[in-house]
Formats: sequence, C-alpha cells, structure tokens
Amino acid sequence: MRTVVTTPSKTDTNFPADATSQQQSSNSPTVQLRSVTKTYENGCHGLLEVNLEVKHKEFLFITGPSGSGKSTLLKLLYGEELPSQGEVIVNGFNVTALRGDRLSLLRRRIGIVFQDYKLIPQRTVAENVTFVLQAQGYTRKEIQRRLEPTLKLVGLLSKANCFPDQLSGGEQQRVSIARAIVGTPPLLLADEPTGNLDPDNSWQVIQILQKLNSFGATVIVTTHDEQLVRRCNHPVVQVRNGRLYRK
Ligand code: ADP
Repeated sequence: MRTVVTTPSKTDTNFPADATSQQQSSNSPTVQLRSVTKTYENGCHGLLEVNLEVKHKEFLFITGPSGSGKSTLLKLLYGEELPSQGEVIVNGFNVTALRGDRLSLLRRRIGIVFQDYKLIPQRTVAENVTFVLQAQGYTRKEIQRRLEPTLKLVGLLSKANCFPDQLSGGEQQRVSIARAIVGTPPLLLADEPTGNLDPDNSWQVIQILQKLNSFGATVIVTTHDEQLVRRCNHPVVQVRNGRLYRK
C-alpha cells in the first residue's frame, strides 16, 4: 500500500522540533506489515494476510466496523501483540524480534492515543503529560521546555493544574494527545481517538493530529466515523473481517 506523502509546513515554531524530523527520508516506509496474520489464543482471527506500507510523514486513516481488526493492527505496531505469521517493521525495526529494552526503546518513538484517554485521575494535566518523560529520565529543565508548547498546541495551557475530572471529554482526549506527543515521537498511533466525542470535539482532535502531521510526524488513525474521514483528504484503508482493503 502506498499513499500520498504530505509536505510538512512548520508554522508553530515553539513546538519541540525533533517530533518531526530526521533519521528517515521521505521515501522510506515508517511502517510495513508483510503478510501478517494474527490469530488469538482462542482461535479468533484478529488479522488475515495483511500487507501495508505507510511512508514517513503520511497521514493514514484505517476504517472498519467494530471487531474488524483495527486495534489489532495498531497493537502489532507497538508490540502489544505479536503476529502469528508475517513480519511487522516499524521505524526500521522488526517488531516481531524485539524484546525487553529494545522494545521499550522502540515504544518511546511511538506516541499512542486511546479512545478512553487512560489518564491518571489523581494527577494534574501537567503531571499526566510529563509523567512518562520523568520515568524516562528527562531533566526537569527539558521537561519544562517541552511542557508549555505541548499544552499550547492542544489548547490546554490554562488547564495545566486541573485534574482529569475537571475537564470535558474533548479536553481529556487532548491531554492524552499531549502526553503522546510530548516526547516528540516520529510515529503517532491513535486508536478510535474520537470514539467518545461529539462532532465538534472530534474535529478538533483530528485538526491537532493533522497539525502534528504537518510538522512531520507519521500519523495512523483508526476510526469507524466515515463522515470524519470524508471531511479530510487523507488516504484511507478499510479492515473487514481481518482483511485490509484499499478504499
Ligand atoms: P476493532 O478494533 O476493529 O474493533 P479488534 O482488533 O479489537 O477490532 O478485534 C478483531 C477481532 O479479534 C475481534 O473478533 C475480536 O473479538 C478479536 N480479539 C481482539 N482481541 C482479542 C483477544 N485478546 N483475544 C481473543 N480475541 C480477540
């Protein structure tokens, strides 16, 4: 699968720059699935013989009904699940062969956004966003350097000291995006990020993801919201019963 490569245009110069750049040329794929089948222990097929190539700096939508295999596909990309057959290559690494520290290192280069936000209720917005950086040993100075522009990008600078239960669903999802991008990963995966949101908030979330893409991040978004997909001009693939179809 080859999809359109977008051209980055950096307009927000405050956002930490390494999100975006380096290492890979625009022609090298960020993600490759080669004849991937995932069969769960109970015999259920998550994916069947899937081939996919996503180029550096692309924005790709993966659509399909509930239970079709969208989450399985993303889980294979960040090593949460292993394929039963085939190969999964991400940022040049064969995920299938990675274990322990090397898998952790790869995951640091992948931002993940979930439908249900997965925020820590007892921590403020700022703490939720910086928690992982602290765990990864970033200095306080570097964490501060990253926090403000990241919160600004998602429109939540004024909510830095709020707790998740003081925020709307849309705001909570934007915190989870901030958490996913504060480490400036070159690859961003979003699994049904708008699944719990109304159309306005959904659109806001997609616009933020598009902005990150314009800074140079490769973005893969799963959704069953066909209307949202139609509103954007990005490549789309569809999963049905574990098989991938180009739309
Ligand atoms: P989607 O994200 O499109 O809703 P999933 O990737 O979650 O679909 O699921 C694809 C198929 O794999 C479904 O039939 C689902 O029931 C099955 N599945 C997902 N996770 C597991 C699991 N851990 N064990 C067994 N079956 C699973």
